[in-house]
Amino acid sequence: MYFRTGPESKRSALAFFILLTGLAALPLSAFAEPTPLPVTDARLRASDTGSEAGNWLSHGRGYAEQRFSPLDQIDTESIGRLGLAWSFDTDDRVALQTTPLVIDGVLYFTAGWSVLYAVDGATGEALWRYDPQVPREESYRFCCGFSNRGVAAFGSRLFLGTLDGRLIALDAKTGSVLWSRMTVPEGGSYSIQAAPRIAGGLVVIGAGGAEFTGTRGYVAAYHPETGEKAWHFWTIPGDPADGFENPWMERAAETWTGEWWTLGGGGTAWDSLAYDPELDLLYVGVGNGSPHNRKLRSPEGGDNLFLCSILALRPKTGEYVWHHQQVPAENWDYTATQHMILAEIQWDGVPRKVLLHAPKAGFFYIYDRETGELLSAEKYARKVTWASHYDLETGRPVEVPGQDFVDGTAMVYPTGMGAHNWHPMSYSPETGLVYIPAQHAGAPMKEEPIFRASPRHFSTGNDMDAGAHNAQFLQTMLRAGMKGSLLAWDPERQESVWEVDHTAMGNGGVLATAGNLVFQGLVDGDFAAFDARDGTERFRFETQNGIIGSPISYAVDEEQYVAIAAARGAGLTAVLGRQFEGEETPASGRLLVFRLDVSETLPPAVAYEIPAPPAMPDVDRETLAIGSRQYSELCARCHGTGAVSGGDIADLRHLSTATHARFEEIVLRGLYESIGMPRFDADLDRSQADAIHAYLIEQAHEDRKRREGNPAWRGVKQFFYDALAWIVF
Ligand code: CA
Repeated sequence: MYFRTGPESKRSALAFFILLTGLAALPLSAFAEPTPLPVTDARLRASDTGSEAGNWLSHGRGYAEQRFSPLDQIDTESIGRLGLAWSFDTDDRVALQTTPLVIDGVLYFTAGWSVLYAVDGATGEALWRYDPQVPREESYRFCCGFSNRGVAAFGSRLFLGTLDGRLIALDAKTGSVLWSRMTVPEGGSYSIQAAPRIAGGLVVIGAGGAEFTGTRGYVAAYHPETGEKAWHFWTIPGDPADGFENPWMERAAETWTGEWWTLGGGGTAWDSLAYDPELDLLYVGVGNGSPHNRKLRSPEGGDNLFLCSILALRPKTGEYVWHHQQVPAENWDYTATQHMILAEIQWDGVPRKVLLHAPKAGFFYIYDRETGELLSAEKYARKVTWASHYDLETGRPVEVPGQDFVDGTAMVYPTGMGAHNWHPMSYSPETGLVYIPAQHAGAPMKEEPIFRASPRHFSTGNDMDAGAHNAQFLQTMLRAGMKGSLLAWDPERQESVWEVDHTAMGNGGVLATAGNLVFQGLVDGDFAAFDARDGTERFRFETQNGIIGSPISYAVDEEQYVAIAAARGAGLTAVLGRQFEGEETPASGRLLVFRLDVSETLPPAVAYEIPAPPAMPDVDRETLAIGSRQYSELCARCHGTGAVSGGDIADLRHLSTATHARFEEIVLRGLYESIGMPRFDADLDRSQADAIHAYLIEQAHEDRKRREGNPAWRGVKQFFYDALAWIVF
């Protein structure tokens, strides 16, 4: 096992000295507070070597983003002794998508509303907490819940992107603010959930929001000392009448038609970045088109560069070097923003520097990361229907006719949720395998009957879930057909080596370790570990809460720890809500930390009592249908398809009598704006709000009937749905 020498060893030496000199009566804690040392470029480059093995200095652990810990105290043998060391509760129940950092014994992790915590990595003792006070009343413009995925560290500073678009530099020791810059274009519906990255000595960040009208994607870099902007790269062209910002935008504009800029165009860089210091390249994953429907976006055709592309830029200047577009003329929300891993593998018998990518579209791409040459694009998803294969000569996919659903509904695999979404994968240089938190689902897709461009609510032009409205049967079956798995992919052989099925899709990110283990938190609430070589399960711990965040491993005082944040929801809520039918989310999120030879237990889970719904209002079917449609357009992206919440946001079927009484005040007059529920008087009149309310009360009664129904009959029905889903999907 690697162990670093640093403040922790000094801390032990100090404790020993105190003991020897008879000063033991002094509280050790006065000396014991861990101190993060400056994070330098040299330290980031050395992340896998002995001196840094106990740290987790950047989002993907090192510049290569492999999420591989060289620690091996916890291995396939000793893991039987792994237990809970401590846990730390957050202030709310917003989903935790975070990957913590650990710098010299201090653990940093982000929670809901971009709040950042610093805790002692050995004990869980709180050191400081920073709340950027994200304006809750602006929540309508945050596309994907209120979570945050992490921070970057450089020098003695941490860098936090906030939901409302600020990049904030904080003192790592105290949490005090050093500078703050608004990074998102003014007036747009942009938001930041991603972790910034350090590249070429600059802090790099993009933003999300391409489901809203008016969003034009970009990535930008800032000086860590001053907050001054170093460069800005739009990922798609704007209005040609305004002139092009650079020659690459002029070139990209040749691949667009119509007046795309009036709708925005999309291409947000909302998550994945990677930096290769030797090649001096920054890789940027670019997102989907806006609107999704390509006929609306670019009516005369065209590839629409640089949507759904990997872009390689010069990190110090933002100059273009190469790109590969994975999904030309994107039409399905197939972002290329998923986690990128830099590795060296054997290719045709020679070592090659590659970029490994398993994005939403279902293909596993391998690039020569120096030149951008596409070496491989094989299907890792169980079912991919939109394209048959890639032509490696041209680097282009061969689309399957009809899958663009121009002539009606098409059953499309993967869904817009992707065969793999933002949940990070990992790579073990020891097994040579990539571990993908994969998911397998299809959805009926068709064009939206009426396209309503709006910067306030999703306007994609595609009815992403054509069965969503009043089609319980179809919904239940689609849900039964959704599967999640942990998939081990061999990039050299270009095939799957093993795959472990999970109960649901939307599971957390993955950690691989030198102990030949792969850790993953599951959305059904278990934290699990598998043998990296063959997928044999080695560990499972019930956390009382769904997990979608990513585990890390670190060491303090020669003790290896594994940390995972548990709290599900947000982002996947709208699609996955139905997987959590009948369950409630605990009152807060929780960071759980494990090590060998301990067995702490969690406080007992708090039982939740579901209030009885009010009497059904006297309305006709037509009103309920209006309520359902309005709910789907305006509410479902946060509160869940069919009013079934996926986690951190109120399940509207379970409102209290008092909340029902204030429904109109909340929805039309902003009573709950201060806690993140926007007002909708610009979108709804009173009769429409009443129709939504009636629809919700109907769903509450449906829910109660289901819960109080005969469990045996429920079991029979579920068996029927599962069997049918197995046959159909
Ligand atoms: Ca999207």
